[in-house]
Amino acid sequence: MRILANVLVALLALSACGPAVPGDVAVSRGKTNRGWLENGTPLPDRGPGYVRARPGESTRFGLPRLVATIEGSAASVAERFPGSAPLRVGDLSAPFGGRHSRHGSHRSGRDVDLIFYATDAMGRPVRGRGWIAYDRFGVGAEPDSRGGEVAFFDTARNWHLVRELIMNDDASVQWIFVSRGLKARLLSYAIEHEPDAEAIFRATWILHQPSRGNPHADHFHVRIACGATQRALGCRERGPVWSWWHDVQAKRLSYAPFSDEGLLENLLAEAGEEEGAAAARERFASDS
Ligand SMILES: [Zn+2]
Repeated sequence: MRILANVLVALLALSACGPAVPGDVAVSRGKTNRGWLENGTPLPDRGPGYVRARPGESTRFGLPRLVATIEGSAASVAERFPGSAPLRVGDLSAPFGGRHSRHGSHRSGRDVDLIFYATDAMGRPVRGRGWIAYDRFGVGAEPDSRGGEVAFFDTARNWHLVRELIMNDDASVQWIFVSRGLKARLLSYAIEHEPDAEAIFRATWILHQPSRGNPHADHFHVRIACGATQRALGCRERGPVWSWWHDVQAKRLSYAPFSDEGLLENLLAEAGEEEGAAAARERFASDS
């Protein structure tokens, strides 16, 4: 009887969080602070332009597009700035997500911590240190217990990393948590050096100091959105839906939705979009 009850509870939990999927489809279930990850992709310990800050440790799983975005953005910095120290990548999620001793979120394969690029006083790249908090002038002092060294926020490299993350339309980056002072620093650099105004526009929204908790003066916390496909599979979106996301990912589903509910949701979403477009065309026609 008890076994039956457990099976029922498990089935209820599953149905509340979306349909079952084939074993090779990655799914971010639930929310980033209350969810889990199925068939996640592991980020290797090192690759072009990056190393993991905790090599060998298992907190390195994410949705495939999160892992691809980290790899692509780090490689782009290395290519754009020869002689860079590798980006140090902190935690993603545990192999199946869920609760983690070091984090409140990071549970469903959509979060990653990236340690800032840093330089010495001469502007030469040095290894990013996760325990140094930088002020709004970009100066970071190590605690005395660690040697009391001073490091400098590498604004050029950190901006290039940010712009690669937020301009990757496949990734749908929702937030990059970072302190207000460093955000201002990145934006004033971008206004002078960034040729694509869209990157600056997106950064003003996506770079954000959380209203509570860690101000993120020592690392970026990057979160990607669910997106239409993952939402249909049980991913729960919180927070903003940015206007530049083309949320027509549903139309590019590479496999069929797995339940009537999911199918219906996709059909309705598309129908709504068609109706909206038709209404807009009508309005335009009667105005002109
Ligand atoms: Zn984090």
